[in-house]
Order: sequence, then C-alpha cells, then structure tokens
Amino acid sequence: MRIILLGAPGAGKGTVAKLLTALDGSVQISTGDILRGAVKAGTALGKEAQGFMDRGDLVPDSLIMGIMEQRLQEKDCQKGFLLDGFPRTIPQADALGVLLQKINIKLDLVASIEVPRDVILDRLTTRRTCSNSSCQEIYNIKSNPPAAGDKCKKCGSPTIQRADETVEAISKRLDVYNEKTAPLIGYYEKKGMLLKISEASSDGVVKAIQNGIARKK
Ligand code: AMP
Repeated sequence: MRIILLGAPGAGKGTVAKLLTALDGSVQISTGDILRGAVKAGTALGKEAQGFMDRGDLVPDSLIMGIMEQRLQEKDCQKGFLLDGFPRTIPQADALGVLLQKINIKLDLVASIEVPRDVILDRLTTRRTCSNSSCQEIYNIKSNPPAAGDKCKKCGSPTIQRADETVEAISKRLDVYNEKTAPLIGYYEKKGMLLKISEASSDGVVKAIQNGIARKK
C-alpha cells in the first residue's frame, strides 16, 4: 500500500504504521525517526534539525524534502510505503505531489486519524521510548509500562521521556499541528483522497484503512 498517515503527534500514526507494514511488506517512513537518528549520529542534518525539534517547531521544508526525495526512491519502497509524519505543511504536500509524479507513483489514500486533544496530551506525557536507536520500542507508563527499572522489555536498554514530550513542548507541537498540518486535511479532501478515521483502537484504525483501500480498488 502507498498511504499518508495524517494525525496530531500522539494520534497513534507510528503504532498503526507498524501494524500495517506487517500486513504487506510496505515500509514505514517516519521523518521524525529519521531526524532523531541523525541527531543521535551527530550528522550535519542532525545538527541543523535538533534546535527546531527540541522546541517542538517544524524543521525547514527544504531539509525534509531533501531526505524524502532520496528515501522514496530506495529499493525497499517498491512494495509500498506508509508516510508517518510527512507531509507536515502545504508546501511539503505540493512538493510530494511533484516528486510522486516524477517517479510515477500514485498514492492509495490519505488517512486522517482523529483523536481529541486531552487524550493526546495524556498519551504523550505518559509515553516512554527505548533509548536504543535500533529498537525504539514505545511504552506507556499507565497502559503498557516498561520492565522493572524502566528498562525496555525487548532489548533491556533504559527507556526515556523524549525532550519533545514535556508538557510545554507537546502543547507547542499541537499548536504547530493545528496551524501548519491540519490544513492538509482539507487539501487532500479536495483531491478526493482523504479517509477520516476516529476509531479508538489501533486495530480499528488498521481495519478502517484496509477497508478504505479496498473500496478504492
Ligand atoms: P514526530 O516524531 O513525527 O512527531 O517528529 C518529531 C519532530 O521532528 C517534529 O516535532 C519536528 O520538529 C520534526 N519533524 C518530523 N517530521 C517533520 C516534517 N515532515 N516536517 C518538519 N519537521 C518534521
């Protein structure tokens, strides 16, 4: 499948993407994960991106488009891809449209996962992530806590609260989402590509996306 997952930070895009990749071998492409990897590795991209990310601001469109042009043409995208956290602005969506046309790829649909703000705030402030960059398993201290000593159940590394998951940074990220990314809902609705989903569980969201793709075929 070739889809875009839209939704505020904490709407569950990453979890849904992981479930979907297991279905048909599509790859999850998370610009947030790519950028965090670059920050950790101390690359030029990471150094440029870090300040924006820690403040909860968006990284400039030009940096993101450079990453995506390359990533979408890698071999593992041939079976399909799930875009998680990209596009985040109208200029990114326009540039993606041009890029997909150039490489002759058509999207199946754009899924907008809709979750109320109070649910998101609670979800993100209680989220913990494995600090091992090749694992990055996600936990929730209320519903799915890590092992004793806040260790990852999969690889045993310490779990951490991301710098951009403090209450201040999350409020900022939600404001940025409403201002810069939410307009993409109307943008893709006008193109007839949008599927709005307000299922509470990740499995429900996955089913809605599968049904949405089947209806388009
Ligand atoms: P995420 O994990 O998707 O919430 O992304 C974490 C942070 O990475 C965001 O708050 C932004 O600073 C940055 N980021 C991720 N994807 C993008 C994007 N498509 N455009 C601009 N900044 C992004």
